[in-house]
Amino acid sequence: MEALNNLLKLISEPLVQFFLWVAVLFIIASIFFDRRISFWVSSVGATYFWLKSQDPVVALKAWLIVMSLFLIILILKFLFNLNVVLLLEGKKRCPMCCEKAYRKAKVCPHCHYRFTSEEDECKS
Ligand SMILES: [Zn+2]
Repeated sequence: MEALNNLLKLISEPLVQFFLWVAVLFIIASIFFDRRISFWVSSVGATYFWLKSQDPVVALKAWLIVMSLFLIILILKFLFNLNVVLLLEGKKRCPMCCEKAYRKAKVCPHCHYRFTSEEDECKS
């Protein structure tokens, strides 16, 4: 019961509610659009509805969190050439065809290029 109470407490938090709205809108939007567009549709949509009915400070806080996450991902990408999304998927990009392949793959499943080392990746 303790865990359930904590969960309910968390859900009653306005900031969490905002992100739940974004998540629900994202799921609906991703039926019609690809991931990138769905993200913008859901976050802008949730902000719009939130500003009409709820505390605007919460929406501002949520955007600050999202923007700082974006900043971290961009910094990792440009300073260390590290693609966080691919890393989370456990994949890399083939230097020949730029298609996704598993990080541990020795041969590209798309063009049959032989990977020579771990750093062998498509730079884009
Ligand atoms: Zn390939």
